[in-house]
Amino acid sequence: MSDYLGQEIWRVLLAVFLGVLGGLLSGQWLLSFTFALLGYLIWFWYRLWQINQWLLNGAKAEEAPECHGILAQLVYRFQRLQRKSAMRKQRLQTLVTRLQGIIANLPYATVVLNGQNEIQWFNPRAITTLQLNPHTDPGQRLDNLVRLPEFQAFLDQAPQTMSSESDPAPELVLESPFGQQDFLAVQLVPIEQDLRLLIARNVTDQLQSQKIRRNFVANASHELRSPLTVIAGYLEMLQEDPAMPQQAQEMIHVAFKQAQRMQGLVEDLLMISRLESSSIDDQDRQLIPVAQCVEEIITTLSKNHKGTCSIESSLDKQLCLKGRETEIASVIQNLIGNALRHNPDGTTVTVTWTALRTGEARLIVADNGRGIDTKHLPHLTERFYRVDKGRSKKHGGTGLGLAIVQHVAQRHQARLDIHSEKGIGSEFRITFPANLVAACPAQDDNTVDAGVINPSH
Ligand code: ADP
Repeated sequence: MSDYLGQEIWRVLLAVFLGVLGGLLSGQWLLSFTFALLGYLIWFWYRLWQINQWLLNGAKAEEAPECHGILAQLVYRFQRLQRKSAMRKQRLQTLVTRLQGIIANLPYATVVLNGQNEIQWFNPRAITTLQLNPHTDPGQRLDNLVRLPEFQAFLDQAPQTMSSESDPAPELVLESPFGQQDFLAVQLVPIEQDLRLLIARNVTDQLQSQKIRRNFVANASHELRSPLTVIAGYLEMLQEDPAMPQQAQEMIHVAFKQAQRMQGLVEDLLMISRLESSSIDDQDRQLIPVAQCVEEIITTLSKNHKGTCSIESSLDKQLCLKGRETEIASVIQNLIGNALRHNPDGTTVTVTWTALRTGEARLIVADNGRGIDTKHLPHLTERFYRVDKGRSKKHGGTGLGLAIVQHVAQRHQARLDIHSEKGIGSEFRITFPANLVAACPAQDDNTVDAGVINPSH
């Protein structure tokens, strides 16, 4: 039996013994027992009251009441819990201090905002980057201090809660209203309900070096364009020259094919640098008759296709898209061209342009060709990524087609989804938002058109 229980039992036995002794001496057994037990209870309650007072006064270790038995055990257990929680508090405090030190010394401006975008805390970097004042700005709305419409819209539209761990935090790049020609990249990370972390970093140097790289690629491609056109032109003439010996003709033909490949590469590089260096404003958007565009591209590609793949289409002719026609045409051309180039003879390519119930519009280019292994799918839109390098080069692929498709889709706020299964086929879907979809101006024949073109015929 525990010590404290033994002590308590002895105390009760002492009260009983005093009751018996009183009964023997006075003959008043009931009265004697009542007094003895009452004495015990009063003593016990007095001790409890002492403990309660001690707890009310902050339960300091040096002021702990002197107790024995079960009450001493109670005080001891309470003090042990108190020591443990003090240690835990100390550990947490050290952790919080360390974290605050880390955040304070981050090379980025960091601001904690509540659900109303009011500043809860910020690190010293935010004083220089966002010109926040540590004395007057805590509690102020950040969108009142950084008065840029795109920044205000970004704060309003960014999610309050993290939708998924793997989702990247939304980012906005804007011209700093404080520095001369400085650019800031701002990210908003939801921390918990009604609490978001805003991170702002100066990306001026990064953007500058990207611009230099882009200009270099654009200039180099531009410079290569004219000499390549001349070379390809002469090679084309020479390969058809009947005076050329057979062997020389074959070599010239190979050189011509390579010159054409380089021309394709230069055109794709120029396209990418154009896409990167400008954004689409509302006034740049044209009403594109996508169905007509698809039909024209199918006709051209079919003429040039040497194999026996066939193209089927189901196109909503009433459905137009607000965007850049050259870019959308390049998307259609790349997707259908890929389906013809990367698949064996006999493949059927299906092109669909249709409205969705949500008001969005979708372009689908599907084929029942060789399909793509799932491990390649996340990389297909990377520049120069090819599933089969040899085959792509042999068929004149530049490795930039799907990068262009992805870029154009993003510029039109559209979503590119790629589904493919090895041996079954591939499907490339681009879903355009409802605000870019419009009815085409009325024409005589404006129904859904389902066509079949077999390039071999
Ligand atoms: P490329 O110039 O090589 O066609 P892309 O960026 O257009 O470059 O495509 C990347 C790779 O994706 C291609 O090399 C090819 O291996 C694969 N690919 C694209 N479309 C298809 C398709 N419809 N069927 C099979 N493979 C495809």
